[in-house]
Amino acid sequence: MKYDVLIIGGGPVGNYLAYLLAGDFRVAVVEKKGSFGGKACTGIIGAESFERLGLPKDAILNKFRGAVFYSRIRSFEVERKAPQAYLVDRKILEKTLAEKAIRRGAEYYMATTFIGFRNGRAVLQHLGKEFEVEATFYIGADGVNSAVAKAIGARTRAEFLTGFEVEVVGDFSRKDFVEVWVNKDMNPDFFFWVAPVNEGLARVGTFGSVDALARFLKVRMLKPEAVVEFKSGVVGFGTRRPWVRGNVALIGDAALQIKPTTAGGIVFGMVCAHALKNALLEDNLDAYEKACSWIRRQISFGLRFRRLFRRLSQDAIEEIFDVLGSEEARAIIEAQADFDDHLKTAKAILRRPRLLAKLIRISPSIVRALL
Ligand SMILES: Cc1cc2nc3c(=O)[nH]c(=O)nc-3n(C[C@H](O)[C@H](O)[C@H](O)COP(=O)(O)OP(=O)(O)OC[C@H]3O[C@@H](n4cnc5c(N)ncnc54)[C@H](O)[C@@H]3O)c2cc1C
Repeated sequence: MKYDVLIIGGGPVGNYLAYLLAGDFRVAVVEKKGSFGGKACTGIIGAESFERLGLPKDAILNKFRGAVFYSRIRSFEVERKAPQAYLVDRKILEKTLAEKAIRRGAEYYMATTFIGFRNGRAVLQHLGKEFEVEATFYIGADGVNSAVAKAIGARTRAEFLTGFEVEVVGDFSRKDFVEVWVNKDMNPDFFFWVAPVNEGLARVGTFGSVDALARFLKVRMLKPEAVVEFKSGVVGFGTRRPWVRGNVALIGDAALQIKPTTAGGIVFGMVCAHALKNALLEDNLDAYEKACSWIRRQISFGLRFRRLFRRLSQDAIEEIFDVLGSEEARAIIEAQADFDDHLKTAKAILRRPRLLAKLIRISPSIVRALL
C-alpha cells in the first residue's frame, strides 16, 4: 500500500492537514494514542482565525469578548462587542477534523506509533507488531517531542517549559472575560490565565512550576479541593530547522510553530498547513518554508518579547501596566489588537508618540524588543 502523504501525529494540526489534503491526495494519518484529545491545552483560539480556518463550531465551549489584566498592584480591562476568542474542546476539535478527513478519503491508523524510517518507508508499531508503510511524502505533525524531527536530524534551539493547568469549580460570573495575571513574584517564568468554561468552571494555568500554580490558586481564592481536572504538558519556544528535508516536512509543534508570547500553537500550525498543501500541490516542498514567512516573523517577534519578559523586573511591569492601562492605550488595543498578530498590536501602540515616549522612559529595550 503506497500513500501520497503519510501524516505522523493526529493532533489538531495533523488532522486539519489531513482534512485539507484528502480531496487531492491519498492520505493516511498515524496516531499514537487510541483516542483523540486529552492533551494539556486550554483551547483558546482567536475568533477571526477560527472562522477563517473553517473549524468545527461544535467544539466551541465559550466565547470571550474581553480580557482583564492584573499585575501585582494594578489592573485594567479591554472589551469588545464581538467575541475575540473561543474556548474549544480539544477532543471534539480533533475528532471532528479526523471524521471530516476520513469522509474525504483519508485513512487513519489509531494506537499506532511511528518508530523511524527504514529504506524510505515509515516503520510503525501497533499493539507490539511492527510494520512498514510507504508514501511519497511524510509529514511530522507529532508534537513538540517529534520523533520525525529527530529522524531527519532537525536541530532545535529552544526554551522548553512545562505547563500546568487545572479545571476548577468557582464563581466566574464574567464568563466572557479571560483573566491574565502578570506577577513575577508569584511566577518569574510566565503569566497566569483564568479562562472560564462557564459561570461555574474555569481553566486556570501557567508555565514554569506547579508550585507557582498552587500559589496562584490561593491568591485567586480558588480551592485546590475544587479542582476537577489536572493536566501538564510541554511547549517549546524557539526554532527547529529545517522544516523540510528531502520528502519529509515538519508542521505544528513538531516545527515549533508556536507563539512564544502566549504559547498558542493551534492557529500557527493550521496556517502553515495551508502553505504545506500548496507546496505539495506544486510538488515543491521547498516552497513551504518560504510561504510560512509570516509565521516565522511572528515567532521571532515572540522570542524577542519573551527575552524582554525574562529581563523585566516586576517594578518595570507595574510601570508598563500604567501605560497600557491608560485610556489612549486601551482604545488602541480595543480597536486594533489582533489575537494572532501580536507584532501588529505592538506596532499600533508604539506608533503613538505619547505611549512610545512613556515606554522608552521605562526602558529603551522595551521598544527595541517590540519593533
Ligand atoms: C498547558 C498548555 C496550554 C496550552 N494552551 C493553548 C491554547 O489555549 N491555545 C493554543 O492554540 N495552544 C495552546 N497550547 C499549545 C497547543 O497545545 C499546541 O500548540 C498544539 O497542541 C499543537 O498541535 P499539534 O497537532 O502540532 O501537536 P499535538 O497536539 O502535540 O499533537 C501531536 C500528536 O502526535 C501524536 N504523536 C506523537 N508522537 C507520535 C509518534 N511517534 N507516532 C504517532 N503519533 C505520535 C500525539 O499522540 C499527538 O496526538 C497549550 C499547550 C500547553 C502545554
